Amino acid sequence: MKDLLSKVSVWKLKQAYKAQEKVFCTPSQFNLEALKRLERAYDMLTKDTSYAITFIKGNLTKPSSFEVMSMNATYTVIPSQHSCTCPDAERSPICKHQLAVNLLISAAKMKE
Ligand SMILES: [Zn+2]
Repeated sequence: MKDLLSKVSVWKLKQAYKAQEKVFCTPSQFNLEALKRLERAYDMLTKDTSYAITFIKGNLTKPSSFEVMSMNATYTVIPSQHSCTCPDAERSPICKHQLAVNLLISAAKMKE
């Protein structure tokens, strides 16, 4: 299994972050909780070296499931089902692991 974080540049992640931020900031969809999680997801990807994200199934053009590893736990994220196995995902519609995976997928799809 390969760590996906090493495959995308910080610049692309930043673009993906800005695009997602815009979506959460539109007046009709303004969502402070989601914005906070998004910020955390971005930090996870760019600053926090204790995290790793790997494929379990699929690839970046057709991703099916991912494993997000932190220092204390490993969670499974399935983007097509909007699901994550972390406790936070039970309380909120979207958790930072799902957001991190989404950022990674959009960054990986971006052209140079
Ligand atoms: Zn999660």
